[in-house]
Amino acid sequence: MPLLVMKFGGTSVGDAAAIQAVAAITEAQRAAWGRVVLVVSAMSGVTDMLIRGATTAASGDKHTFRDLDRMLREKHAAALAELVPDDQERTAIDDQIARLIDEFSILCHSVAVLGELSPRAIDAISSLGERMSVRVVAAALRARGIPAEALDASEFVVTTAHFGDARPLQEVTRERTRARILPLLGRGIVPVITGFIGATEQGVTTTLGRGGSDYSGAIIGAALDADEVDIYTDVDGVMTTDPRLAPDARVIPVLSYAEMGELAYFGAKVLHPRTIRPIVERGIPLRVRNTFNPSHPGTLVVQDVESNGQTVKAVTAIRNLSLVTVEGRGMIGVPGVAARTFGAVASVGANVLMISQASSEQSICFVVPSSTIPQVTYALEHNLAMELARRDIDRIWAREDVAIVTAVGAGMRDTPGVAARVFGALADNHINVIAIAQGSSECSISTVVAAADCDAAVRAVHRLTGV
Ligand code: ADP
Ligand code: ASP
Ligand code: MG
Repeated sequence: MPLLVMKFGGTSVGDAAAIQAVAAITEAQRAAWGRVVLVVSAMSGVTDMLIRGATTAASGDKHTFRDLDRMLREKHAAALAELVPDDQERTAIDDQIARLIDEFSILCHSVAVLGELSPRAIDAISSLGERMSVRVVAAALRARGIPAEALDASEFVVTTAHFGDARPLQEVTRERTRARILPLLGRGIVPVITGFIGATEQGVTTTLGRGGSDYSGAIIGAALDADEVDIYTDVDGVMTTDPRLAPDARVIPVLSYAEMGELAYFGAKVLHPRTIRPIVERGIPLRVRNTFNPSHPGTLVVQDVESNGQTVKAVTAIRNLSLVTVEGRGMIGVPGVAARTFGAVASVGANVLMISQASSEQSICFVVPSSTIPQVTYALEHNLAMELARRDIDRIWAREDVAIVTAVGAGMRDTPGVAARVFGALADNHINVIAIAQGSSECSISTVVAAADCDAAVRAVHRLTGV
């Protein structure tokens, strides 16, 4: 029997009305597919509230988390009151949620006493939102007559111990997920699984990073060999650019995995950047759809897409970045400078988003998040001290406040002059391009611009889409 994994984001479970829409979609898709699995985010705003409780507690504030405690209780109770008419069932779920919120306050209290917040503690606290929402959603499904069971992914999504950015361990995750989920499906039950979270082999809770529920959907879909993974959100699909930035953004009907991967990697918030990876390996189709407009077909993401002659399909941006330049005439022909440069950056755990090197070999530029600049500069100066002393490297410097604007489209590969059109559009709008990179997949072109020019640059390149 075919299997559909559906992931519902924060807004899709944001209140009772949204959860009713989720229940209606579940009912319809279960009838159509036979077997469905739900992966669910925390109710919208909840993860932010949990993290705020933790960070304010760390600075010694013992009041904010208590206010948040009350707000969290009210938010979940209000949804339950509308969704679950049976008193006994509602009280039982209310109790489970109350215990999770107690845990929040106890953890925040300890953080306040210690005055210290470790990544591990942040994960323990921020994972509570999904643990609450799955219980509400499963109860809402049961109230509608659909057998459903809430499950914590920490039982079977096994990850590395990189708190806040954990990676799944594929083999054990596959084994345990199948062992836990397939019997439920066999009994006609709809599993409602927490997105965003996992646990180490030792059972310590981890998270996959902000927005990570999409990734959970893909991990679970791959583990179960699903026939399709649907990401339900609050827009009709993947659009030509962020609709908040360009109101004329349009839904893209079909994208390839490679194009979707580039879009997500270069900042399209609609999908967590790692989502594509687990499903590409198994060739599982992915769809992005709107919970609030379920008849819209959304965006289908598959292996191969026939070119429709469009070159630039979409535009994305990443903000809050800095461009680091390592320059010096003595770098010419000296082997290993690039290796040591990136070794230094990696040693402080900074993520390099883009690299460009002038062919003269007199400089290497790369882009990293601005938050990592102090550590990156220190590590570079330390690792390249000898070259600096010898004046093989003259200067290591960072330009803060830049953004990467990326044009994505597989058609670029076979069409000459796309780069010229992108740069032309930027020049026409008086936007200065600081650096350029083209991915080897040739399905994207990235430009670095000043942060102040970012929105205008996105709109300028967006005018090239669909042409
Ligand atoms: P969810 O909570 O469902 O995961 P997110 O807020 O994480 O939803 O992602 C959906 C949002 O992503 C949309 O509401 C939209 O504002 C934003 N977005 C940014 N870029 C794009 C894009 N290219 N296509 C669609 N949505 C985008
Ligand atoms: N609830 C988590 C977050 O807000 C994960 C997600 O929604 O995807 O980041
Ligand atoms: Mg999201």
